[in-house]
Amino acid sequence: MDDFSRLREIMVASQLIPRGIKDNRVLEAMRKVPRHLFMPLPLWGVAYEDNALPIGEGQTISQPYMVAVMTELLELAGDERVLEIGTGSGYQAAVLAELAREVYTVERIGSLADNARECLAGLGYTNVVVLTGDGSRGYEEKAPFDRIIITAAAPQVPEIIIGQLKEGGIVVAPVGERFSQIVVKGRKARGVLVEEFQVPCVFVPLVGEYGWKS
Ligand code: SAH
Repeated sequence: MDDFSRLREIMVASQLIPRGIKDNRVLEAMRKVPRHLFMPLPLWGVAYEDNALPIGEGQTISQPYMVAVMTELLELAGDERVLEIGTGSGYQAAVLAELAREVYTVERIGSLADNARECLAGLGYTNVVVLTGDGSRGYEEKAPFDRIIITAAAPQVPEIIIGQLKEGGIVVAPVGERFSQIVVKGRKARGVLVEEFQVPCVFVPLVGEYGWKS
């Protein structure tokens, strides 16, 4: 076991299991994905600590617990097509790629999308497509999706996104004010979202047509 896998073991045992993450497939993915490789080299030493960290362009890679909790809420069994909005580093996309069949992830900042694409390809993920653009409008070309995860904060889940979710599908997203939100899980039933879960969080804003304006 190398030093980084040992740090991942400790991360899972001290940050995830005690806070209630139970899904074994999620825990296994968190043990496996090399989070440090999605960060700038100077941050590798703190990559497995209990924090969000800067990845450039004023954006962040989410805290490990937040990645785990949102992933668990998606209830992935392995055969899903998933849309992620807010690629950032690509780390959450890698975790999703371990647990679902196909992942489409959209990032508005070109340099971050390029880095994430390169990192994911370097790790051998062939089931993730990184797109550059305004994800607040979803990704109509590949809709409908079984699951949608938004990893940037919006005033609410955009209606256009709910339209791209399959009936019975799950969306997980931080919604609320600009500097404080709650993660909501909603399941689509007869065309509308039924909310099932909430946990407080702080995400960078979703900036775009159906998010914040700047
Ligand atoms: N999931 C990421 C963390 C996301 S940080 C990870 O694992 O590292 C939120 C990201 O959402 C930022 O990179 C930000 O640029 C991006 N973002 C903000 N508004 C967006 C939009 N309208 N469409 C796509 N990406 C957006």
